[in-house]
Amino acid sequence: MDKCFFCQVQSQSQQVIWNSDKLFAIYDSYPVSPGHTLIVPKRHVANLNEITDDEWNEVKIGINELSKLHQTSALKEIYTNFIKAEISDESAWFCNKALKHPRLNTKPDGYNHGVNDGRAAGRTVDHVHWHMIPRFDGDMIDPRGGIRYVIPEMGNYKIPRK
Ligand SMILES: [Zn+2]
Repeated sequence: MDKCFFCQVQSQSQQVIWNSDKLFAIYDSYPVSPGHTLIVPKRHVANLNEITDDEWNEVKIGINELSKLHQTSALKEIYTNFIKAEISDESAWFCNKALKHPRLNTKPDGYNHGVNDGRAAGRTVDHVHWHMIPRFDGDMIDPRGGIRYVIPEMGNYKIPRK
């Protein structure tokens, strides 16, 4: 059986931006915003409820360390390299958007964190991974609701409804 994407990529040192005992992190090649990061267990486990206590503790450490890394990482070079690697036309589109972002390599004003836990929740690679999506003031007209927008019409609970 072929190894899944996350099982393969963890041995590619040029892609891995952070390592701990049980986890590693890479930049998403389809970044929602500059610095969009994936924190991934080294073990091949599909679901969030398979994560051990030790792995959970390292997620916490990773979030802290990666949020500092986002400000010093060579994001311009990283996204340029993703485009050169011709991962896909879609990846190039997302990387170009990130490169043109006015806040590339500045401290994010917030983060959305999340796991697509199961195919019904939008997971496309069956190896659990934690999305860490930097957010910047003004990147949406009204960001209230955040990850509630996984189902768009359910996002903003401040909109008056009948
Ligand atoms: Zn895997």
